[in-house]
Amino acid sequence: MSDLSELYQDMILDHNRSPRNFRAMPDATALAHGHNPLCGDNVTIYVKLEGERIVDVSFEGSGCAISKASASMMTAELKGKTREEAETLFERVHDMLTREAGTFVDIEGLGKLAVLSGVSEFPARVKCASLPWHTVHTALEGGETVSTE
Ligand code: ZN
Repeated sequence: MSDLSELYQDMILDHNRSPRNFRAMPDATALAHGHNPLCGDNVTIYVKLEGERIVDVSFEGSGCAISKASASMMTAELKGKTREEAETLFERVHDMLTREAGTFVDIEGLGKLAVLSGVSEFPARVKCASLPWHTVHTALEGGETVSTE
């Protein structure tokens, strides 16, 4: 196993065991529900915006370890970012997850999210990892429900 896949396993286990920002947010200014029928993952993402800045972000739901870990990492990264920075990050993570296996990925500036690049080795899990990102994207666009299908 490469260092990245070991790191990947550790991060997934850690975030699954003790997810960050795993709570409802009664005063959220935006929220969306996401569903991945292939795996049965369900997630609700809550966002609190002040102007253009995300001052708080949290999630609830039930799903596999990868969807939960991805949501947990995502909330940790998005807090304090502007809406535009969040959308840029969404696009980069989406590209990273859906690239062809073995192709180059630019992980500069992605921080801990870089470990999610390991998911592209497991095509069946890509939708699990991308679900929380699609969901927060929908929340920021003012939407309500998103399905990966
Ligand atoms: Zn899943």
